[in-house]
This record gives sequence, structure tokens and C-alpha cells, in this order.
Amino acid sequence: MKQRNWTRIVSLFTIFCLLLTINPFITTAKNYDQDIQSVDTGTDGMVSTSHPIASQIGADILNKGGNAVDAAVAIQYALNVVEPMMSGIGGGSFMMVYDADEDDITIINSRERAPAGATADMFLNESGGIIPFQERVRHGNSVGVPGTLKGLEEALDRWGSRSRQQLITPAIQLAENGFKVDGQLASFIVSNAEKLSATAAGDVFLPGGEPVKEGELLVQSDLANTLKKIRKHGTDALYHGEIAVAIAEVVQDFGGSMTAEDLANYNLSVNKPVYGNYKDYRIASMPPPSSGGTFLIQMLKILEDFDLGQYDVRSFEKYHLLAETMRLAYADRAAFAADPEFVDVPVNGLLHPDYIEERRSLISLDSRMDETPPGDAWSYEEGAADYDVEAAEHDADEQPGETTHFTVADRWGNVVSNTSTIEQVFGSGIMVPGHGFMLNNELTDFDARPGGANEVEPGKRPLSSMTPTMVLDEEGKPVLTLGSPGGPRIITAVLQVFLNITDYGMDLEEAVKEPRIYNTHTTQMWWEEGIPEDMRAQMTDIGHSLQTNPNSVGNVQTILIDYETSQFYGVADERREGAAIGINRPGNSSGKDQGKN
Ligand code: GLU
Repeated sequence: MKQRNWTRIVSLFTIFCLLLTINPFITTAKNYDQDIQSVDTGTDGMVSTSHPIASQIGADILNKGGNAVDAAVAIQYALNVVEPMMSGIGGGSFMMVYDADEDDITIINSRERAPAGATADMFLNESGGIIPFQERVRHGNSVGVPGTLKGLEEALDRWGSRSRQQLITPAIQLAENGFKVDGQLASFIVSNAEKLSATAAGDVFLPGGEPVKEGELLVQSDLANTLKKIRKHGTDALYHGEIAVAIAEVVQDFGGSMTAEDLANYNLSVNKPVYGNYKDYRIASMPPPSSGGTFLIQMLKILEDFDLGQYDVRSFEKYHLLAETMRLAYADRAAFAADPEFVDVPVNGLLHPDYIEERRSLISLDSRMDETPPGDAWSYEEGAADYDVEAAEHDADEQPGETTHFTVADRWGNVVSNTSTIEQVFGSGIMVPGHGFMLNNELTDFDARPGGANEVEPGKRPLSSMTPTMVLDEEGKPVLTLGSPGGPRIITAVLQVFLNITDYGMDLEEAVKEPRIYNTHTTQMWWEEGIPEDMRAQMTDIGHSLQTNPNSVGNVQTILIDYETSQFYGVADERREGAAIGINRPGNSSGKDQGKN
């Protein structure tokens, strides 16, 4: 991937600063084209995000010669402003990067960590009971030490060709000058009004007690100032000094233990993907501390021999096989998955062909398994569990979280698949006073009850389901990117979009649109609108327990790359109001120019 050209960056930045000084109009927010376009094609690259403004900012960077990582960094800063309820510098991320020059995939893992003062029983009340989810979410103990900003800087250092100053500026302008609130943000402000009003967030999103409405301009001056400090000082702006102290103070005000030292000590990890094969496809996905990649591949391997494509896409057989596979996988997920810096995760055992066969043989087309306890994955690899292998109780009162997934491909073959989160919508609801950004509640992803692999420990990262994924061709180049928000539902959303393409031959748009299901070893089956009533009735007849009403499962942003025709196809899931924007450079109809500038 292209390296920085410092001289050029410094001189361009100087010119840019001069222009800012002499031309006040240049700081005026651009008129972003809010026309929603959820599907697009391009010859020179693609951007797909869950917000049209963020997509446009990413596309601008690509059009101006930036690479996929440059665009991804600019997108993340922009999403912090226009989708402040889903992700940002107060949260954590997994950025999967395919570096075309190196022909290699690397993940920048900036997942939140528990502070040094965290304890295994911090989510239990005095009598040993689990504190209700809605209380835990808003408590300072749920706030993890954020990582996203460090992740962005690490990615830029490794692969960026543009300066932080350039990439963060569109976000600063959006925060400073405001942008028109879309329907989704407006409705999330209303549904989270009480949580937001209890913190500094109330002044931003409900000024004078009234929620900002769709179509109104949302100005975030404090956030703009924070982003300006980051523009100047990089990660130091957040992890040392005034803002670090402010984060620690507000977390402590809400009962947590985080200190400025926890911020100073935060470190990310650089990971390699977990790999697996399904039929003729090679999959690279997110390893622990996410459960995403391991259980995406486990479910695919269990399903492989059932040859799902022989059954109709909306058939009882398909839904039943998916549901049973999910029940098995989520039992294992609850028992074995956690942060590998603290706990040995038997990834090889969980994906061992004999273990897969053992699990697959439990599934029958004629009946529903009565129970789905976790298997003995450790017997298929060396080692042993030093934790209580009992499937953790799925929180009965856990609320569906939300997050954001975006993906970028550039004309040099570099590809990014990035999932980024503050956990629940608006995270903990806690805004850092005077600094304008929301803090996550990611530590609710730990088991509330101690003893299992995913119990709380200081410095540990809570188990995630985020599943940034790339599907590779026989040369190892990415041909498809996938990923989604949706808490544990993420893995099943990615699974089903993938199967719609591979086993049902759908095009990308159809594959994303097709209604999805979600099931675990302890929850009722979720189903989306469009799953036929008679199929649901058959599922119920055989013993499945289905939710009464339809419920959305994930929000998949995806890119498909056809190297033969040099075409990029992008889709942003219409379950939100995202946009895919193809890059088509004038005069390049083939997209074959592999030059670098
Ligand atoms: N906290 C979730 C996870 O890491 C992501 C948030 C969501 O999409 O629910 O799996």
C-alpha cells in the first residue's frame, strides 16, 4: 500500500491552513447529497456505509486519490458526527485490511478493555443477583476504555497515504456547521430521551428538553473542538491530559472505576484473521475476542454437507437447518469464546472436521433437538479449559445493541471491512461533558456472572460478535466483504447473506434484502418480515419457539469485486438508510489502471 509522502503532506497542509485563514467560506459545510442510493457499481472502487454523508466523504477521499484506509479513517470520523449513536471515539472497532502490495490481511483490533479497577462481580448486586441490563447499561462500570481513535491512528500509520489532518476535517466541519438530522437519528433520540437527558448528551440531542427533529440542523460544537484537538495532537488528545481526566471523572460520577491512567495504558492488538473454507470459498474473518469469525465458519462447516441450496430459499427445511445450527453454535460460543489474551479459546477444536461432524450429526430434518448443550471442543485440540465450561445464561433482558459496519475498496486492490461500536444505541448514554462524544457500554458484553471464560477481568476485552469478513478467490484476493451490526445477531446476518450468494446464486442486492432469522441455544427464534407464515407455522409445529412479531436482524454493508471485468458492486442494507457509492474515474471504463499517484 502507498506510503506517506511527508513533504507533500506538510506543504499541502500548510496551503490548506492558509486557505482556511483567508477564506471563511471554505469551512462552510459542504452540501452533501443526501439522495439515498443503496446500490451502486464502480470501475475504480467502492464505499458502502450506513450513512449517505459518511459514504460521500469516503468516496471523496477515493476520488482524490486516497486509498481504502484513508477513506475508512475519514468515514469513521464522519460517522462519529452523523451517526453518534452507533460508533465513535468513545468506543471500539475491528478494522480488517487487505493490503494489496503485501497480499496480506491484518486486523487492527481496538476493542475496549476493562479498567484496572474492574472486578468479576461488578455486575452483581449485594445479594449476588445480576443487576438488570437496563441498569448496568447506564452505570459507569459498563464503560470500557475506548480504543477506536488509537485504531484509526495505527491504521493510518501502517497504510495511510493522507494525513490525519485532511481526513478528520470533513467531520470537524459537519460537527461545527451542523448537518440535517435523518429519520433514524431523530427516532433514536426520542427512544433514548431519558437515558440521554441524564447526562451532558441531553443538551446536545434534546436542547431545552426537546428532541432534535428530522430535518433540523444538529450542531455539535464540543465534539468539533475535541476533533480539532485530535487533528492537532492525535491520540494524545484523548488518552492523556484534559480529555482523559474528563472521561475518568464522568465514568466515576456514574459509579465506575476508570482512571486517567487506564486511558494512558490502553493498548490495541494487531491480529491475523481466522480462516476457513466453505465449498470453493475461502473465508477470512474476525478471531477472538470476537466470536464472529470462529462461529461463522463453524456454522458454515456444519451446514456444508446439508447442501442448503437444494431446498427453497424460503422453505421450512432451510429455516430449520439454520435454526438448529445456530442453536449448536451459540451454545459453544457461550461456553468457550472470550479474550485470548486471558483465556485459551479452542478455535482449532471448534473447527476440527471431526468435531464439526459430531455436532452436525445431532441435527435431523424431522425433529428439533430438545437441548443443545455445548460440545467438548477441547477434546479435539491440545489443552484444557481453566474456566467453567457451562454455557452462560443468555441475558433474558438484554436489549438488542446497535453498531455500524462499513466497507471500502480502492482501485489499487486494497480493501477494508470495518465494524465499529459503542454497544447499545448511544452506548451508556454518558457524554463526556464539554467534549461532546458518547461513551460505550461495551463491558455489558462480559458475562455478568463470574466463573466462565468471558468473566470480567481488569484489562480484558469483552466477548464480541462483530464479524468483519472477507471472502477470497483462489489467489487470496478479496472478492466479497461482509459485516453487520446487531450484537449476537451479527454472525447470523453475515452467514445468511453469504449463503444467499453461494448457495442460492442471488445477486448482492437480493442477498442482503432476503429476510433473515436468528436463533440461539436459549432465545426464541427471531424472524424478519417476509418469512412466510406457513413456514413459521411448520417451525412451531416441530417445536421451535418463535417471537410473536418480526424483528430486524443486522444491517449488512457489502462489496463484491469482479476482477475479470474490473467492476465493484456495493450494497448498503436498506434496513437502515445507508449508501453505496461507486468510484468511476473519468476516462477509465476498464478500471484496469493500477497506477499510483
Ligand atoms: N457489542 C456488540 C459486539 O461487540 C456490538 C454492538 C451491537 O451491534 O450490538 O458484539
